[in-house]
Amino acid sequence: MSVPCVCVAREAGEEVRRELAAADLLDEDHEIVVEDGSIYIPVTERAAAVAALDAGAAAIDSDIDVVHRDAPERDSQVTPADVLGFAPSIERLGEIAILDEDDPERARRIADAIVESDLPVETVVNRASKVKGELRVRDWDVLVGDGTETVHREYGHDFRLDIATVYFSPRLATERHRVVSQVEPGERVFDMFAGVGPFVVPMAARGAEAVGVDLNERAVDYLRENARRNGVADRVTAIQGDVRDVAGAYAGWADRIVMNLPHSADGFLATAVDVAGDDCVVHYYDIQHDKDPFGPGLAAIRAVAEPEYDVAVETEHVVRSYAPHELNVCLDVRLTRRE
Ligand code: SAM
Repeated sequence: MSVPCVCVAREAGEEVRRELAAADLLDEDHEIVVEDGSIYIPVTERAAAVAALDAGAAAIDSDIDVVHRDAPERDSQVTPADVLGFAPSIERLGEIAILDEDDPERARRIADAIVESDLPVETVVNRASKVKGELRVRDWDVLVGDGTETVHREYGHDFRLDIATVYFSPRLATERHRVVSQVEPGERVFDMFAGVGPFVVPMAARGAEAVGVDLNERAVDYLRENARRNGVADRVTAIQGDVRDVAGAYAGWADRIVMNLPHSADGFLATAVDVAGDDCVVHYYDIQHDKDPFGPGLAAIRAVAEPEYDVAVETEHVVRSYAPHELNVCLDVRLTRRE
């Protein structure tokens, strides 16, 4: 059967396959085909559409071809949908399957179906609250298994974390990769809200000197462990505390700042400006109405930075839809110190 496939040289195959998997663009129903030194990786129709539009999805570079060709169907495995008769929405984080079901009975049925299926899952949890408080952690109902700690792989890096004690969203993998890809070796990166290190670790792996700060003690413990586990501990400094108290030691230091605290980042802009070096890119995450998703963030940045810096917008990027008429966005802004 003819399906869309990403075609790359055989030696690049595993890396590209991993990136496509992390961006959830793999077609899991068809086998990879190797032919004449090239590897053909079946991808979803969404991936094919993105490539056709050359819309710049991080995982599909414009120099990667998407072709249609025959690929054999995989040996059929039992999926939760086979058991249930409908396709439930399941998010995967390491060995954990995450549900977002309001009806506890439906959640229980889906959890049982996951256990009955061939999915490699040890734990099933259902969201029991929104993310809340300063630490942005949520409550979970554990439906299967007895722990909420796992190791999650994202774009070639492993992250150990416990979803009951730290914030982590696998949905942001593609966005983090977009930002991480901009980092050059030797850069000084300051992540103001670092969590377990999904920006800090890959940035250090690209050769940056990275400082990650987080209020959550458990997140900082995991950040240190994840730096070690990915072989970048020598380029990572992990600091527990309120970034407003920590920043003074890094005044004028950073070439790049990550501000991933979307609901309240504006309250931390003065701290970001203190940490910024003479020429510094700030990745500012925000949640705004879709009528003007970038205006309020840019106005806030200008109000705080402009006395000292010229402010130039490098990218206005929609990360995802957050709620009806609300968008999660990222402004990539360059601050250049005025003479
Ligand atoms: N960047 C990480 C990621 O992508 O997974 C974590 C982002 S999470 C939305 C925000 C993080 O900011 C949380 O881990 C929280 O503990 C931390 N945080 C909140 N207020 C803080 C503060 N005043 N100083 C330092 N960290 C803070």
